[in-house]
Amino acid sequence: MRTLPDNPIPGTRSRLAERVRSVPPSGIRRFFDLIQTMDDVISLGVGEPDFTTPWHIREAAINSLERGMTMYTSNHGLPELRRLVSEHLANRYGVQYDPASEVLITVGVSQGLDIAMRAIIDPGDEVIIPDPGYVSYAPCVTFAGGRVSELPTSEGSRFWPRASELSERITGRTKAVLLGYPNNPTGAAPDRDTLTSLARVIAKNDLLVVADEIYDRLIFEREHVCFASLPGMRDRTILLGGFSKAYAMTGWRLGFVAAPREILDGIVKIHQYTALCAPIMGQVAAIEALKNGESEVVQMVEEYGRRRRVIVKGLNDIGLPCLEPEGAFYAFPSVSRLGETDEEFAEQLLTEERVAVVPGSAFGECGRGHVRCCYATSLPQIEEALRRMEKYVKRHQSA
Ligand code: PLP
Repeated sequence: MRTLPDNPIPGTRSRLAERVRSVPPSGIRRFFDLIQTMDDVISLGVGEPDFTTPWHIREAAINSLERGMTMYTSNHGLPELRRLVSEHLANRYGVQYDPASEVLITVGVSQGLDIAMRAIIDPGDEVIIPDPGYVSYAPCVTFAGGRVSELPTSEGSRFWPRASELSERITGRTKAVLLGYPNNPTGAAPDRDTLTSLARVIAKNDLLVVADEIYDRLIFEREHVCFASLPGMRDRTILLGGFSKAYAMTGWRLGFVAAPREILDGIVKIHQYTALCAPIMGQVAAIEALKNGESEVVQMVEEYGRRRRVIVKGLNDIGLPCLEPEGAFYAFPSVSRLGETDEEFAEQLLTEERVAVVPGSAFGECGRGHVRCCYATSLPQIEEALRRMEKYVKRHQSA
């Protein structure tokens, strides 16, 4: 296929919008493409549960198809699912949303993030995002016409953002703060006091919050603090949640947005003109997940907890210092003492030892010198990956 030059005729406008051209391709993609060409790779790369969606959830969707449920739903999503999402948020976090007007079912958190950004950003508005952060955050802000302002975090403070540093970054154009905790890639989940201090700065400066809480259930030995449940935050927070991680439902593409009515109305406006609704079979599956999926969530989280202990200890033992992640399913060790960049480490580890990890710099400047190791894979695979990494580290530290 012939590819079109960026500027077909000198002096004419590019065919692609500047905000699209300005976003580099995902740093993760290149690694995944490379992995496809290799055998015997242990992947700690993709951030996806290795479990299959529990059978009763799949069966509910199959049954609905057999009953001929193949239509559009209302733009907001099936009323029963919205009611269950609202109950889930009220029961777990004590935060109330009217299922009729304050909950929207989306095509994954990915779509929720996109339409939330488009609903609140005017050209030039700034969104503050802790760095490192999930790869889609900054592009979604840029695609919506906004500007990203990074809020640096570091290993020294467990990759928790600090209120004083948030204050320093606020300008007259700051519209919102995008918080993703538990965090991809660091596994950080700041405690209630830290989040409350951020909330005070946010309220004082009259900012909005987009809270991506897709990993809310994947939290270890502590409570998940739902940002909207903090004092004064419900009315300025757009809460994004999903089914991909907790219920091993990545392929179903199901998520939700919960927000005060005035904001949700704006988000729904974009949703109804661009997506109409989330797929009905996924919505039926999500109803079953919320109704009867709790025991599997608990089992999966226990299994992730076991793997977390093994990988964190293993990485520290082989000389790759690693904080204990508080949530999600990522370990984020430092590789800088080998005198290699995170990209060099990831690329060489893949070609020499066939273990795939993701360079931390793919998630922002503050991720440099680290690699993301996803432990949503079986314990034997993790143990074998650690053996291979140990060989790599021994060879490279003496080189
Ligand atoms: N947010 C974070 C932090 C993620 O890590 C991911 C997927 O890896 C997503 C959102 C996308 O979620 P979904 O599958 O619901 O679109």
